[in-house]
Amino acid sequence: MSEYFRNIKTGAVTVATGLGITLKHFFNALNRKGDAGVDDVDYFRQVDGLVTLQYPREVIPTPKIGRYRLYNNIEDCIGCGQCERACPVSCITIETIKVAPDDLVVCGKTSDGQQKKFWIPVFDIDVAKCMTCGICTTVCPTECLVRRPKRKEKLRRHSRQLKKTENKRNS
Ligand code: SF4
Ligand code: SF4
Repeated sequence: MSEYFRNIKTGAVTVATGLGITLKHFFNALNRKGDAGVDDVDYFRQVDGLVTLQYPREVIPTPKIGRYRLYNNIEDCIGCGQCERACPVSCITIETIKVAPDDLVVCGKTSDGQQKKFWIPVFDIDVAKCMTCGICTTVCPTECLVRRPKRKEKLRRHSRQLKKTENKRNS
């Protein structure tokens, strides 16, 4: 009989412990710091009390400067090849074609008004070889080659997808 009551006691303690942990998470979630900006002192405390994450709208905070994936805003790339030459492991491949004088207008300018003089049919980064040293980003004269958190690309894809779905619905 004593074993019977001991089992009941163990069961009750186990349930109470489990509920205690659940309640702790529940109250922590109520005190979440929300969308603190990167300069906010609470930035890295946003994960406190995290239960679910509405990804990609919500993300676990990452440092402002990190060794993220490389991203080239090709509209601003002038095809100078400095990044390719600076890369210590030769993982950037660029092919350029000089623009004929008549086609300069079509080739366009960078966002800071610099005339582009090369077509760039190939701009490839072998991410399997890239050691994320970031040297290529420091030599880029137009600052179009940057390291950017992957989530930004995902967010953009997500918004594009949402727009497409909305357009389909409205048509
Ligand atoms: S981060 Fe370093 S290794 Fe990667 S492409 Fe740039 S220079 Fe090359
Ligand atoms: S250094 Fe910058 S502008 Fe020059 S080719 Fe590389 S990404 Fe383009």
